[in-house]
Amino acid sequence: VLKPGAAMPYFTESWSRTGDGQILCVGLACLDSVYVLSNYPIEEDIKERAIDHRWQRGGNASNSSTVLSLLGAKCEYFGTISGKKSASFIAEDFIMHGISTKHCVLYEDCEPPAATVLVNNTNGLRTIVHNESNLPELSLDDFKKLDLLQYSWIHFEGRNVVAVSRMIEEVAKWNRMHSSESELGPIRISVELERPRCGSDILTIVPQADVVFVSKDYAMHKGWSNMISAMEAVAEYTKTSASIIVTWGEMGAAARSPDGSIYHSPGFPPHCVVETLGAGDTFLAAAVFSLSSGHSLRHAITFACRIAGAKVGMYGYSGIR
Ligand code: ADP
Repeated sequence: VLKPGAAMPYFTESWSRTGDGQILCVGLACLDSVYVLSNYPIEEDIKERAIDHRWQRGGNASNSSTVLSLLGAKCEYFGTISGKKSASFIAEDFIMHGISTKHCVLYEDCEPPAATVLVNNTNGLRTIVHNESNLPELSLDDFKKLDLLQYSWIHFEGRNVVAVSRMIEEVAKWNRMHSSESELGPIRISVELERPRCGSDILTIVPQADVVFVSKDYAMHKGWSNMISAMEAVAEYTKTSASIIVTWGEMGAAARSPDGSIYHSPGFPPHCVVETLGAGDTFLAAAVFSLSSGHSLRHAITFACRIAGAKVGMYGYSGIR
């Protein structure tokens, strides 16, 4: 294992932009093999021809770092990374997008997590088959080695729940002890409840967060049948100063501010929906970008719905720039 900060073969610092604080995205990066199909679902035991195929760097925090960087934010990705040849695509793609990976923890002999994604060309919906591989999750000790002074915002993907709860505790502790020394002020913390995780209650990552993102999939799994009931339910777990943002596919998104005010943004559907893969990650990145630039919650969700609406009208992310 290469220690954080040690030189890595192809993970170099590669800022392409400047700005005030850096935004750190903590989570998983994986290798996506994306097939676009005109005929879906496909039968078993046949040979089907895809109309398009591409390799793509995936993973929630990894995707959000891509969109943040395309929007012009100074952004770093932090997670564990495979040193295998198959993972070199992931490394090169981070560099190509100007996203720093300089603190990532490299495991030479572990495979990268991978996914096969089938995109239905008629409605843009995606079906994902994912394998987490033998790559270890980020540990609290890895996180403790970061110098938090350089960050203005840290986003945590909702996974690896026990360790991530402790990482968030570390940031909260740092805010209590050091934020007065930082020109950037306290680090803002966001988390995402995207889907339920086996064996652990993902809601345990919520209490110290400033902004909590909740996906429709997670809300439906919990039995919260609309955006308002999801926000009210999650508010039971947050600190009083937290904002809660819920996304609901083509219906757009809603937000609850700390004083209990509720805002709604409609969805902004493109002329033609071609790919919903990464819509939630795009929304999250655009909302974090807007909030970290000082905009209001109401402005942030509308901006994020516009960017995510544009994304579902394109393949990949490069058209966001
Ligand atoms: P996830 O990718 O986590 O399933 P959602 O489906 O809730 O996320 O979508 C996130 C955001 O993307 C929505 O709030 C909306 O702004 C936008 N979005 C998703 N699907 C569509 C669509 N069909 N038309 C317009 N906007 C969409």
